[in-house]
Amino acid sequence: MNPTETWFAELLKERGVALTPLQLQQFQRYFELLVEWNEKMNLTGITDREAVYEKHFYDSVTLSFFMRMDEFASIADIGSGAGFPSLPLKICFPHLKVTIVDSLNKRIQFLRHVVETLKLENVSCVHGRAEDIGRMPELRDAFDLVTARAVARLSGLNELCLPFAKKGGTFAAMKGSDPAEETQEAKRSLRELKSEYRETHHLKLPFEQSDRHIIIIRKLAETPSKYPRKVGLPLKQPIL
Ligand code: SAM
Repeated sequence: MNPTETWFAELLKERGVALTPLQLQQFQRYFELLVEWNEKMNLTGITDREAVYEKHFYDSVTLSFFMRMDEFASIADIGSGAGFPSLPLKICFPHLKVTIVDSLNKRIQFLRHVVETLKLENVSCVHGRAEDIGRMPELRDAFDLVTARAVARLSGLNELCLPFAKKGGTFAAMKGSDPAEETQEAKRSLRELKSEYRETHHLKLPFEQSDRHIIIIRKLAETPSKYPRKVGLPLKQPIL
């Protein structure tokens, strides 16, 4: 193991996530593909091995520090970009059935290649806008867990993400700096989307020590048929 893999495996093990050699190999291959494809398309501004493992891989898996992943069977990751947080979570918790939605087709092509190369089963990568995909009957009110990392402000993000969660399901919005203000601002959108705020978890990345927050929302009832509104509206005119 190289030094990066050593700290990565050790820190995750301390949090109860024990990785096998195969899982470490999958992260290694994911890192290589990310750097290789990043030369042809814009996937990430971070390509240094240490930084990718800390700010993308480790950061994605932090969600599992606060919730038991074995309680979730299905997860939808909205605006996944280069696969965060869902692919690191899938590598660590192979039982998850993952659906990724992103509006940039090139990123979806990259993700399909990663999924195939890493031989990840039960991962489907869907190209499209969450506003449209969230109306597809098989994906609406359907998932145990919905995630979105660094996609948009919560008031608009709720409308993009909550339609995917099943009644009783969870939405976890992963953020950088303190989201207290945007959480306040998102109160009405939560009511409209039949959901309630639960809590916000705070952590720091292990080396860089930058702040991370995970907002936990619970969906109480099915999404009203008027949501999500037309493409663009949730972020341009959020429910306030
Ligand atoms: N979640 C990733 C991460 O943490 O690295 C990517 C974050 S990136 C800033 C936001 C992603 O959301 C982009 O890949 C973009 O294509 C996607 N996106 C933005 N609006 C979207 C929408 N309405 N529907 C689906 N994907 C969207």
